[in-house]
Amino acid sequence: MKGTIVILVFALAAVAEVFGLSWNPIDVDFASLEIQAKGASIKTIEAEEGLFPDSTEVIESYYVIPEGCISCQICVGQCPVGAITMSDDNFAVIDPELCINCGICASGCPTSTIELLKAEDCALYGVDADGNTELIQEDLEED
Ligand code: SF4
Ligand code: SF4
Repeated sequence: MKGTIVILVFALAAVAEVFGLSWNPIDVDFASLEIQAKGASIKTIEAEEGLFPDSTEVIESYYVIPEGCISCQICVGQCPVGAITMSDDNFAVIDPELCINCGICASGCPTSTIELLKAEDCALYGVDADGNTELIQEDLEED
């Protein structure tokens, strides 16, 4: 029975897509860049041959807004593909590579702190060698 439900979820789930984000050229020295959305880390971007790119692609998947997570772990048990784990800080984290965008976790979260990623919620941060982050640019351009 459980296997049937999982198959149905796979069949009904939307196919995950990616969207592009771009920003102004980076002229400040950072250890890395990071795309964040509402306090959640979405993607880390490393320099290539000493230069940072001015665009990237991100997966349009569900993600957890850490501030609203009460660590109940309901979503961890509900996810049909095991895409959700608890972080060292004890909030839920979704692996976008595994998420099939079924939306079950978002419906079941008691604090409504799971959302589908949108380009307008994304911002670019710089990360220094100590792991401190600094906002570089909001309102990234969607490609
Ligand atoms: S269901 Fe919501 S509050 Fe509970 S662990 Fe998941 S994200 Fe956090
Ligand atoms: S939307 Fe939520 S429940 Fe569905 S696959 Fe993604 S993380 Fe799992």
